[in-house]
Amino acid sequence: MLIRPTPSGLYCEQGDFYIDPKRKVNRAVITHAHSDHARRGSEKYLCSKSSEPLLRLRLGKSISIQALEYGISTSICGVIISFHPAGHILGSAQVRIAYKGEVWVVSGDYKTYPDPTCAPFEPLSCHTFISECTFGYPIYRWPDPNHEWNRLENWWKTNREAGLSSVINAYSLGKAQRILNALKDSEQTVLVHSAILSFLPFYISEGVLFPKVMEATPENIIRYRDQALIISPPSSRMEKSLGDSCSWQSLDVSGWNQIRSQKRKKNLPNGLIVSDHADWEGLCQAIQATEAEQTFLTHGDGSVLSRWLTEKGLSVSQLPENISTASLHASQIH
Ligand SMILES: [Zn+2]
Ligand SMILES: [Zn+2]
Repeated sequence: MLIRPTPSGLYCEQGDFYIDPKRKVNRAVITHAHSDHARRGSEKYLCSKSSEPLLRLRLGKSISIQALEYGISTSICGVIISFHPAGHILGSAQVRIAYKGEVWVVSGDYKTYPDPTCAPFEPLSCHTFISECTFGYPIYRWPDPNHEWNRLENWWKTNREAGLSSVINAYSLGKAQRILNALKDSEQTVLVHSAILSFLPFYISEGVLFPKVMEATPENIIRYRDQALIISPPSSRMEKSLGDSCSWQSLDVSGWNQIRSQKRKKNLPNGLIVSDHADWEGLCQAIQATEAEQTFLTHGDGSVLSRWLTEKGLSVSQLPENISTASLHASQIH
């Protein structure tokens, strides 16, 4: 096995490195800058060129990073490593690992839908594919993003006409910038939480277009009340901090809304169904396109997906996510 799960995360013994390690390690290969993949404290980091500034912002300016352009390889102890676009967020990468003629690809998070804020997902062929499966159920099929962006613009317009502010809950890295890009032709000013604002220069330097954006300070919220669109991460509890300063409507933007929308009462606005992960169709197609001899699923419940692909004749199994030292020893004994 070129890569195996350990308590610290996916490990390549031949190259002595971890991919998206869960703990401090000597050498960390990072698929993208989301906090469940890029963690503090490792000695050395290897990532894609576009991920580097995002990683420095999140993990510290002075961390030791080697960054590679997509498709350019480096060698660690004879193991050839290269990054290839995953289409998830800016800088997100699949990690291709080749050793003595054997090729493994670790997908990281990925999506196959178009997204102007990052390079499109690149199908790779390999012997073994380790795929995420966040939305590995047939119910998850994303609508055309443009359909959802039209819904967003109509919702915002209706709120403005009613004298209401519009609050969007979205992750600060990736989703928020994707929403901003969808509104790039808007004449209106968009207010964003400071966490979102801090990532924008890196997108702008990659040529991503945005509308006029200002920080969602209390002063700006009052100044633009009755017309503002405010984007903030769910954890910031923006609605609570708005208090009595203005009247507002809120909406969240997530793949999980596909399920939630069926549960909501009819008189409540449904969230937008836009995800930065592959839907069922995207997962099935991406996995089949690798022509891998074996596929391991991780980062989600892969039970339905692995059954479906196994029936198609593929060799697919779930990789244990939170492997403990005890269970690792047990699996080595048997
Ligand atoms: Zn992610
Ligand atoms: Zn993730």
